[in-house]
Formats: sequence, C-alpha cells, structure tokens
Amino acid sequence: MTTGTAADGRLAKLRAELESENLDALLVSNASNRRYLSGFTGSSGSLLITADGATIATDFRYYEQAESQAEAFRLYKTAGRLDDWLPGLLDGMGGKRTGFEASEVSYALHRQMVAVIEAMPAAARPRLVPRSGIVERLRARKDADELAKLQAAIDLGDATFEHVAKLVEPGWSEQQVAWEIERYIHEQGGDGPSFSAIVAGGAWGAMPHAYARDHALKSGEGLVIDMGARLDGYCSDLTRTIVLGEPDARFRAVYEIVLTAQLAAYEMIEPGMTGAQAHMLAQSVIDAAGYGEHFGHGLGHGIGLQVHEAPRVTATSDDTLEEGMVFSIEPGIYLPGWGGVRIEDLAVVERGRCRFLSHAPKSE
Ligand code: ZN
Ligand code: ZN
Repeated sequence: MTTGTAADGRLAKLRAELESENLDALLVSNASNRRYLSGFTGSSGSLLITADGATIATDFRYYEQAESQAEAFRLYKTAGRLDDWLPGLLDGMGGKRTGFEASEVSYALHRQMVAVIEAMPAAARPRLVPRSGIVERLRARKDADELAKLQAAIDLGDATFEHVAKLVEPGWSEQQVAWEIERYIHEQGGDGPSFSAIVAGGAWGAMPHAYARDHALKSGEGLVIDMGARLDGYCSDLTRTIVLGEPDARFRAVYEIVLTAQLAAYEMIEPGMTGAQAHMLAQSVIDAAGYGEHFGHGLGHGIGLQVHEAPRVTATSDDTLEEGMVFSIEPGIYLPGWGGVRIEDLAVVERGRCRFLSHAPKSE
C-alpha cells in the first residue's frame, strides 16, 4: 500500500466489522493482517485499532520502517518485556472490549497478557475477547489496489511457467526445474517463489503435494508443475501438467476429464454459492467419469498476501463466494503407480461470474 487512502478504506471496513462484532478495539498480530491494514511489511509488531484510533506498536528495529510505511498509524515504540510496554499501549482502554486474534496468540503469550493486564489498576484494565477471522474476512474480497498487485504476481507466475516449460527436457531433475523457477522469479524482480514449487514426474505426480526430487524426468511421462511467484507481497499459484514428448492415450483421457471439470466449475460458479457448491461442480464431472475417489482435495482456496486464505472452496466449506473474491480452481485426478493430472488457475468473481486471471497456456 502506498497511499493513505487505501489504508483509510480498509480501516473504515474494519471499524464497521468491530461494531457488528460488539468490540471496542482489535489487537492485530497476524503479519498479513498487519500489512493489509497498515502497509507495514516488517516481521514484528501489533496494531491496536479502535473506533477513532489506529496505533502500530513495534520495536527499535522497525521504528523508521513503520513511520514510512504505516502513514495512517500513530507509532507506539515498544522496548523490553511485555509488562514494560503493553500497559502503555492499552492506556485509555479501561473496560473496553478488546478483541485479539485467537489463532495468532500462543497459550504462553495469552497467559502473559492476562498477567500484565491483571497487574494494571482495575479501572484501567481492558476486557480481552478472543476472535478469529475478522480481518481475514475483509481480505477475502480484493480491492482495486490488491487486484492490480495480484495480477502482476500472476503475470510473473505465468511468464515463469512459460520460460521453464520451454527449457525443460528429459534428463533434467525435478529439483533443477524447481531451481530454474526460483531463479527466473528473482531475476524478473519478484520477491521470490510464493511456496516451494511442486515438480513431480511420472508416478510421483500421484501425490498432490509431492516435493521436487533429485530424479531425472523421462520422455512420455506426465509432469505436474505447481508453482507461484510473490511480487509486492502478493502471491500467485499455477498448476500445469505437461508431457515431455508425446502423451499416451491414458494421459490424454485423464487430462481431458480434469480440464472439463475445471472449465465446468469456471463457467458455472456464481456469487452467492457456497465453497462446497462450487467444489461439487467439478467433483460431479470427475465422479461421472468414474474417477471420483481419485480427486481427494478441495477445488480451490482464496489467495492474496498468503497463498492459502479465505474463502475455502472445498467439499465441506460453507464460505459464501462473493464479488471481488479471488481463488484457485484446481481439480485433479491422482492414480497411485501412474501419476496425476492437476490444472490450476486463479479467478476473480466479477459481474456475476468468474474471470480467469492466469493465462499460461494449457493443452485443450
Ligand atoms: Zn498450486
Ligand atoms: Zn493452489
């Protein structure tokens, strides 16, 4: 985020959420939430957001960075132990319902926070309220600034795949492919890969989360490449399954089913559907082809500052898909002893339907 305006818009949305959650304030410690709300990219610090205030608390290493990145925030300088600075940060919060991110605060830290607050004068103590997913829900719908950053990360991911797909040939190891992906992303100015690339030749591709091995790729075998670039903090995520040399009939048949499943979901997903309903659009195509038990994972996941974020697009998800959400559509079929086929693209829900953001070529 480079402008105060983007931060102001997000803070206004958060404050509306706090009101409906019956909270007076929220303490934010998740790194991506912190970055989303404030623009601060440092690895340590907390935000305290109230109805009329926004404070960033961080230590000496980050004073300067916080001042330049989190323009809309008051800087509160922390030093020493929790009991040295937490009471000062919470000054004026006596009796206020103060949410904290339950999934980010360890049991040990929670005990420390409670002890520090109990040592404060009774009238000055805020009431800590565990909450989860408040900022994550806001992040699920992307604003124009985020969509532009995501598109740039996705374009870099697409270019990286095309670069590597042109180079790779039988005899390359999976690790060599993964390294070429990383190298190219850095060379093109990306922050780095958004996760360690999955590069899986032949039967290894039957594992959806296979790691790249020191194993030579062979002609005629399927090759699953699942990779992403991070650029300006935003992640891309792309899967293509290719064959070095000529695909055989079985590969073509399985590929065709996966592609049909992906395009069916893409064509039919509408805002208002649940993640589970979206998942079933692809699952039913794979079921009808007789491979239902070989899909096995969710159709997709939201993506943004993190590779996996809200919404969940899985068989059990009751998350509602809404305008502005960006998620992957990535069905697959995995056959032990043979290999796998997965095709993954990112899409945004826009004007009542999905629009692909990734454009790396895939065989039709
Ligand atoms: Zn992926
Ligand atoms: Zn994915």
